[in-house]
Amino acid sequence: MRPFNKSDKLANVCYDIRGPVLRRANELEDEGHRILKLNIGNPAPFGFNAPDEIIQDVIHMLPESEGYSDSKGLYSARKAVMQECQKIGIPGVEVNDIYLGNGASELITMATQALLNFGDEVLIPAPDYPLWTAVVSLSGATPVHYLCDEDNGWQPSVEDICGKITERTKAIVIINPNNPTGAVYSRELLQQLVDIAEKHNLVIFADEIYSKILYDDAVHVPLGSLPGDVLCLTFNGLSKAYRLAGFRSGWMIVSGAKDRATDYIEGLNILSSMRLCANVPAQHAIQTALGGYQSINELILPGGRLLEQRDLAWEMLNAIPGVSCSKPAGAIYMFPRLDPEVYPVHDDEQLVLDLLNQEKILLVQGTGFNWPHPDHVRIVFLPNKIDMEDAIDRFANFLRGYRKQ
Ligand code: PLP
Repeated sequence: MRPFNKSDKLANVCYDIRGPVLRRANELEDEGHRILKLNIGNPAPFGFNAPDEIIQDVIHMLPESEGYSDSKGLYSARKAVMQECQKIGIPGVEVNDIYLGNGASELITMATQALLNFGDEVLIPAPDYPLWTAVVSLSGATPVHYLCDEDNGWQPSVEDICGKITERTKAIVIINPNNPTGAVYSRELLQQLVDIAEKHNLVIFADEIYSKILYDDAVHVPLGSLPGDVLCLTFNGLSKAYRLAGFRSGWMIVSGAKDRATDYIEGLNILSSMRLCANVPAQHAIQTALGGYQSINELILPGGRLLEQRDLAWEMLNAIPGVSCSKPAGAIYMFPRLDPEVYPVHDDEQLVLDLLNQEKILLVQGTGFNWPHPDHVRIVFLPNKIDMEDAIDRFANFLRGYRKQ
């Protein structure tokens, strides 16, 4: 009989963070092994719990969460996001410019589906958070990767971006702070990107989900706050800074050249209505999260657990011969390089699979982030210091066996 195959639309869609290596990790767990999972940016299982006040407020609002909400989301939650826009300097945003979703992920899918046609091109960073490449491919458009330059602190290469713009380029994705590199971009660079978008009439997709996870003296400049006649869609949510990834709660802000986007906005409204609304109990968390005390600061300021773990992981990784890693200024990841002169890796998925089988450590291969060479891995620095030390020691031990003879 005829087999049931996945649709052709999925031919170029991949999301390796939860790919074949994770399946092997699950098998090993089923066999009784303890796997140290440094593969997914999911704070709560590592003891980074959400602020109690948010949980209590959601419990309080549960009896009033039985019905669907407005398809864009609860007015009170969207108002709180609007006030956040005023606070961080994104001008001209009204409640109706805000959409709530089941995580930023759902809104990212909606934003690309509503805009893109077959043959359109979207500029996406390399390395990227691979959802972006996946959703652009799913929409029928072509992802075109622009280089983030490791030798320049992983800043996007303006030259590479300019060289890749064609008449089919419709949008540019900017992930700041960046996953997987941890880079935070300067105001000057972001203004250059806005100017390029304005000149070529590109929509800016600003993925700012790590905007509140910053270290040392890093400052986050919201793209929507910069001057320029551009349409900007900003994505953020509760998964990271508020440690509520399981709630699936995020928001999208439409700002800037809305006057040229009436038709696109109608498309967004259609898609938003089709999924009826985002999970209502989790929408109730937004107002409390944004309005209340920002407990993330305790974790990232001197003495904070996340900051200390970043420092430990960074020092330990750089102490491994042939491994180098720039210091993340934001987010919760590192993207160390394995010098090909020392580690001649041809297949980085096999590398992380071998590491998993041998040392029971789970990382994600760099090519899973659309990085073109098999010479990087991504590490999440969420585990506590004892687990992290153990994991990186075991990684170092494993790499000794991978060295060029
Ligand atoms: N954008 C980036 C850069 C991310 O790293 C993630 C999750 O890891 C998301 C978006 C998705 O976030 P959410 O949990 O809100 O769907």
